[in-house]
Order: sequence, then structure tokens, then C-alpha cells
Amino acid sequence: MEQIAIIGAGAAGCFCAVELKRRRPHSHITVYEAATKPLAKVAVTGGGRCNISNSFEYIRQLGEAYPRGERLVRHAFAQLSPEQTCAWWEREGVRLVTQSDGCIFPESQDAMQVVRTLENLMRRLGIELRTGCRVLELNYGPQGYTLRLQQGEVRADRVVVTTGGGALGLLKPLGLEIVPPVPSLFTFRIGDEGLRSLMGTVVEGVTLSLAGMKKYRSAGTLLLTDWGVSGPATLKLSSYAARELSERDYKATLLVNWLSSSEQQVRSWIEGTARGGAAQKLVSSIHPDGLTSRLWSHLLRRAALREDIRWAELGSKGISRLASTLTADAYPITGRCRFKEEFVTAGGVAASEVNPKALEARRYPRLHFAGEVLDIDAITGGFNLQAAWSTAWTVASQAE
Ligand SMILES: Cc1cc2nc3c(=O)[nH]c(=O)nc-3n(C[C@H](O)[C@H](O)[C@H](O)COP(=O)(O)OP(=O)(O)OC[C@H]3O[C@@H](n4cnc5c(N)ncnc54)[C@H](O)[C@@H]3O)c2cc1C
Repeated sequence: MEQIAIIGAGAAGCFCAVELKRRRPHSHITVYEAATKPLAKVAVTGGGRCNISNSFEYIRQLGEAYPRGERLVRHAFAQLSPEQTCAWWEREGVRLVTQSDGCIFPESQDAMQVVRTLENLMRRLGIELRTGCRVLELNYGPQGYTLRLQQGEVRADRVVVTTGGGALGLLKPLGLEIVPPVPSLFTFRIGDEGLRSLMGTVVEGVTLSLAGMKKYRSAGTLLLTDWGVSGPATLKLSSYAARELSERDYKATLLVNWLSSSEQQVRSWIEGTARGGAAQKLVSSIHPDGLTSRLWSHLLRRAALREDIRWAELGSKGISRLASTLTADAYPITGRCRFKEEFVTAGGVAASEVNPKALEARRYPRLHFAGEVLDIDAITGGFNLQAAWSTAWTVASQAE
């Protein structure tokens, strides 16, 4: 009987176990889990609601959602697309709802429904689950694979590694290339008291970038907090620039374009206001839609403009300073913070080590990888779990 070992009972491991057993009913599948319970992370995803997938309607290119691992994800989606994943969950009795922002959740709004569904399927299919059982090392030899556990060794003909963001040490004996793991999806500490004093302010339609790292850019909602900045635009930027920010020890300069417009467009608006019917009004009394009065006062201070001058008195230097502040307002990033304990790991087994067809190691037969252990990670919105489901399915359906 074929012995299959799955290392890690997370989203990818449990999903893969179910789909492998359905295709190989005569094999014996054992899932080894270091923790005392399977699927502990899934239970807390999406604040306990489990953002299980995404409609992808707001994603123009796959790379926007997957800063790393896009190629593997594209292959995996060809095996199990997000629509097919949703159909899978509905078939298994988990009804889903799509929010207006494209995020998909169980209708029950309960991550435990997802956990219980996978647990029940594993039990019904006769998959062996060994919890409290950490795999310390994986070796390959003429007899196949050997897993070293705290309590001895076990053999397997086929192995699927689904250990998530960490635990790459167990792969050491195989000499696979590992892209060093670094955190993704975090918020920024900002060394500017003026900005931090605006905590609680939400600004829609902001564009963020990093000075000297112009290729990283994100747009969306910005939330000002007592430590700096958070919200979707910040998390996206942290994901895009995860590796470079880690290399710089999270010291960088954040550029905020408060209006997501070009400097020229903003300058035209300022000049129009300074010359038009509002020319005699105070600069503090008129501000762009979407910016609060408190934020506007802060921005005027940043542009070294007094609040009691009139629009007509701005002068060409004042106009330039205001346009520049509104489109490239620079703040020092002094560190990173976790977002509600929610972060994913960028890095993992290098994409070049696996054949995308069955996510099988190029150098080791019948050794597969799925989920976050691969160098795949995404922005928030259900994309990370979707990658776990699709890569797990790919292993199960393509393993030969
Ligand atoms: C708080 C939080 C909320 C999140 N919310 C969402 C969300 O709503 N939507 C979304 O798409 N993504 C979300 N994510 C990300 C998502 O949870 C992960 O991307 C996803 O769980 C990855 O699945 P995985 O199976 O690859 O890894 P994991 O779920 O991390 O599972 C890996 C498993 O392997 C086990 N393991 C590790 N090493 C060993 C070893 N040596 N031996 C045995 N077992 C081992 C671990 O204990 C773990 O159970 C969230 C993450 C966090 C932290």
C-alpha cells in the first residue's frame, strides 16, 4: 500500500489530504501536525470569519495580488480556479457570500465551519491525523523518504510538505534552495508626531510609494493610527516591498499622494482656486473632498503655510509647496508593526525547485509542496488561502 505523508495540518495540508485520498483510495495517508490541533490558523483567519477566497474582480493582473509566486499560482489556478474552489466549498455544504470589496466568506461568518468541514471529511475518508507530532527532518534514500520524528522514524513513498511559513529546517538534508523568509502584511511606524496625532482618520483614494523604490506603489484607503499608518493601502505596500524593507531594517521614506493625482493636476486646482471666486477666502476654509479639516490643517503646516492667509496670497512658492505636499508628502518609516496579529511569510521553497505541473521537487521524485511553504504570498483579501487551496489541489490531482 502506498504510504503518503503530509507534513502540516493547515489549510493546504488538510485540503490536499482530502483530495489525494479521493483519488487514491487505496493509499494510506498520514498527516503529521506539530500542534495539538489541526487547522489552528484557519480558525482565526479573517478575524474568525475566514476570508476563504476572492472574486478577483478588482485585480487587473495576478501579480497585483501575488507579489511573489505568480507563475506557480497561475499554473495552480489552471487546475483549480477561484470559481471552482468556491463551487467545491458549496458542494461540501459551506455556503459562501461575496462582499462588495470582492472578499469571499462563509455565509455563517464562522471560520470554524471551514475547520469542521475539513476535519469531518478527513475522518470520513479514513485519513490518519497525528497531532502533537513534529517532523524534525526529511531524508531521501533508495527506500524512499524517511521522516524523523521526536518519537522515532517513519517511512513514506510520497511526501507533501505543507508546513506554512516556517519550519524549513526539516528540509535541510535535501539541500533545496530556500528563499529566506521575511514577514509581509504589516503596518508602518511613522516618526512624525503631527501625523500620529491624527489617529483614527481614514482617507480614501490615497497612493503610497517609497522614496528610492519607485517600483512599489499601492492605492486605496489609508488609516492613520497612534503608531503611524495602517489600512489596505499600507498593507499592500508592505507586501509589495516586503523583501526590500526587511533588507533596510524597515527604515525608509513613505511618500503619500493624498489625492492620487499628478502634481500638475493638483497645481492647476490650487491655481484655479487662488484666482477664482474663492481667492479671498482663507486657505483653511476650502480643502479637497475626502480630506478632513484636521488633516488639511496638518498639510498646510507641512507646506509651511499659515491658516489665516487667503488663497490669493499663496504666491508661486506657496503654490509649489502645497502641490508638492499634497502629492509627495514624505514621512520617515521607523519600523514595522503587526496588523491584528495577521501576517504572512514571503519566501520559502524557491519556485525554481519545483515543477509547476504537480508542484513536485525537480530533484526528488514524489516530493511535493503546497501552500505558504512555497515562495508564494499575497496581499490581504482571501488570496493567501486561495493559493493554499489551489496548490493543494494541484498536488492531489497531478501527482503521478
Ligand atoms: C491571524 C491570521 C489571519 C489570516 N487571515 C486570512 C484570511 O482571512 N484569508 C486569507 O486568505 N489568508 C489569511 N491569512 C493567511 C493564511 O492563514 C495562510 O496563508 C494560510 O493559512 C497558509 O496555509 P498553509 O496550509 O500553507 O500553512 P498553515 O496554515 O500555516 O499550516 C501549516 C501547518 O504546519 C504545521 N507545521 C509546521 N511545521 C511542522 C513540522 N515540522 N511538523 C509538523 N507540522 C508542522 C503548523 O503547525 C501548521 O498547522 C491569515 C493569517 C493569519 C496569521
